[in-house]
Order: sequence, then structure tokens, then C-alpha cells
Amino acid sequence: MNYTEQQAEWITQQILHELAARKSPAASATAPVALEIPVGVSNRHIHLCREDMDILFGYGSTLTRFKAVKQPGQYAAEEVVTLRGPKGELSNVRVLGPLRNTTQVEISVADGFALGAKAPVRMSGDLLESPGIDIIGPKGRVVKHNGMIVAWRHIHISPQEAEQHGLRDGMEIDVKTDGPRGGVLSHVVVRVTADAVLELHIDVEEANGFGLRNGDRVRGIKQDVRHG
Ligand SMILES: [Zn+2]
Repeated sequence: MNYTEQQAEWITQQILHELAARKSPAASATAPVALEIPVGVSNRHIHLCREDMDILFGYGSTLTRFKAVKQPGQYAAEEVVTLRGPKGELSNVRVLGPLRNTTQVEISVADGFALGAKAPVRMSGDLLESPGIDIIGPKGRVVKHNGMIVAWRHIHISPQEAEQHGLRDGMEIDVKTDGPRGGVLSHVVVRVTADAVLELHIDVEEANGFGLRNGDRVRGIKQDVRHG
């Protein structure tokens, strides 16, 4: 028997096998996609429900539009509240409109230290076992038993753009930034909604940490494919 020939045949089979594996759909699904995303930096703010609006600003009161934000239909209101925690207060906390079904307070980690309350990093609406806070308005005060979070970084994207870049609602991507404080932000959650304008939402601390400002552009890199 010619061992050399047999070995050569075996090696050829291994190489063909390897090449086939590299071309598999699994490999191409994780390939990076070029996606330029404008940055939107969120300062501490609060979303109010109707009932809390009534207590804080008066029965039947409405929010006054102060400044539009990039996501359609949403705006910063003229109304501000004070947050009071066990250790301290934060005043002039901007209300974001329109009103929602549930009151939600979004602060930074440093804000949590100032208030004396440790808020978890969560996606909007995921308020289970989050700490509460006292909210003080010109007409009254509300004692919340939960609803305070540090917002999980995320991008807003329309269904069309998401499709183009192979992104799906709920998946996580990496975002790469350049500049002297450049780096990679991992676990950026993709939020696909009908009227979304492409934007990366990070808080003030994340922005400062990476030297980013409103309107800067970062690069999205598709990282994993999560189904469901
Ligand atoms: Zn957002």
C-alpha cells in the first residue's frame, strides 16, 4: 500500500472540509456590517404617567413643549421636577414628553451616588425590582416605590434600515468610536420601531468616558445573532 498517496488524499479531504466550513451561512451571518450611527446623549430625565402629572403639576395639567428630540413625537418639556433620595436631591430634572403609562426615572450612576439609591442598568420599561424615589413638583409630591433606572445603551433604527444591515429588534451589537478616548461599546441593544430615526442613545457618563458628543458618528458592528 502506498501510504504517501493515502496521506495526500486525507490531507486534501481535510482542506476541502475546512474551505466548506468557512463558506457556511453561520460564518457570513457574523460578518461585520458598516453602519454609521449619530450619537444622542441623554442627561437625567423623567417620564411621567397621567396620575403623577396630576399630583406634581396640578389636575389636568399638560406638558409644554420645550425642545424636540430626534425620535419623532418625543420632546423635552419645560416642566422640571426635583428628585429626593436618602442622601441628597437633584433639582431641575427635565420631564420628557409625551406622558406614558408608567412613570420612569433615568439617571446616571453618579446621580445614584448623589441620591443614595443604586439604580440598575435596564432597558426602558424593564422596571422590576428597580428602586423608588421621591419626586417633587410645584403642586405636590409623589413617593415612588420603583421606576428608577440607568438606561441600557441602545440604538433606534427603522425596520427598513435594520433589514438592510441584518439587524433585528432585541439583538446586541458593538459600537466602535475613534478619537483619543476611542473604544468599543459592547451590548448595545437594537430597538426597531416603525418611525425610529437612526441614533445611538448613551448617557452622559458613557459619552464622557468615550469622548463623545451629541451628533458625533460612531460605527456599528454586528456582533452576534440572537433569535427571538
Ligand atoms: Zn432611546
